[in-house]
Amino acid sequence: METLMLSRSEEDISAAGKILRNGGLAAIPTETVYGLAANALDGEAVAKIFKAKGRPQDNPLIVHISRLEQMNSLVSEVPDAALTLAAEFWPGPLTMVLPKADIVPEEVTCGLDSVGIRMPSHETARAVIEAAGVPLAAPSANLSGKPSPTTAQHVADDMNGRIDAIIDGGKCDVGVESTVVSLCGERPLLLRPGAVTPEMIAEAVGCCDVSHAVLEELGEQEKAESPGMKYKHYAPETEVIIVKGSFENYMRYCRENAQEDDWSLCFNGEGDILAMPHVEYGAEDDLLSQARGLFDALRWFDEMGAKRAFARCCEPSGVGLAVYNRLLRAAGFRVIEV
Ligand code: AMP
Ligand code: MG
Repeated sequence: METLMLSRSEEDISAAGKILRNGGLAAIPTETVYGLAANALDGEAVAKIFKAKGRPQDNPLIVHISRLEQMNSLVSEVPDAALTLAAEFWPGPLTMVLPKADIVPEEVTCGLDSVGIRMPSHETARAVIEAAGVPLAAPSANLSGKPSPTTAQHVADDMNGRIDAIIDGGKCDVGVESTVVSLCGERPLLLRPGAVTPEMIAEAVGCCDVSHAVLEELGEQEKAESPGMKYKHYAPETEVIIVKGSFENYMRYCRENAQEDDWSLCFNGEGDILAMPHVEYGAEDDLLSQARGLFDALRWFDEMGAKRAFARCCEPSGVGLAVYNRLLRAAGFRVIEV
């Protein structure tokens, strides 16, 4: 199949809308990462997403909407907390998991009785949803297991020839996937950290628990609250190792352990001090910049044929929880304290 490269023009957005209405797949920019979209109400179209990505059949998709009313038809119940969080954080990088309505096909939810819903703030994403005239199911537009795409080029690298179209909307502003919070239980439960932090959610609705799976590896027997938590994720071919500690100790560790084709994944300004190849992924004191730069940096290692990457890391709080969570999975939970 030939993959059309589209722009953000009105004409191209309407072309993407038509592809989606007709059961095709289009990759679209959002403020978090690029999404691979299909008509969320068409099970057959949604099934194509799993095929194009090689995504495990038990990892559900998030449904993207452009207007709040669309939520009503997708869920069987709207808790007060959902309205409060929508008023506070939508449009934006927050996904709410709610009890699903019958209209949502099982291909979207992988048989769960809940559905994840998000209203993106990216103008183009919302314009495509409007043009399609239906809610869009969209996971990240990467091959399953790879780092999520934050540019149209990343999408093309993974998906060229596998999907109908890619809309180029430039670089994603947030750079990590949306926060996922479940509102199906007694208290809000954070399943995946993102730019909307658990502290921000608690401030809005009184409390927010954080699933232990955010920072810990799930045991073999353990049931994932959010199916995506089970898999090794966001990982380049390069073996990533988190080296946790002061920059001084990090430098010593690298000096003593780095071999040929080992790289450093470090903060801005640190690369020149290290006598090894490096990628800087953001400023140490600016967590949002780390979120924005992380996936691009991870993809770069594969381009360069890096064997291992020693990663500097932030504290896992605030937006840092999201950055650390992704880094931890990219590293397959390998952490060395120095
Ligand atoms: P992706 O779109 O690839 O960023 O992944 C979407 C993620 O949202 C999944 O991996 C799940 O972690 C989460 N998710 C989506 N729908 C549900 C749901 N109904 N219940 C729990 N988690 C969900
Ligand atoms: Mg994904």
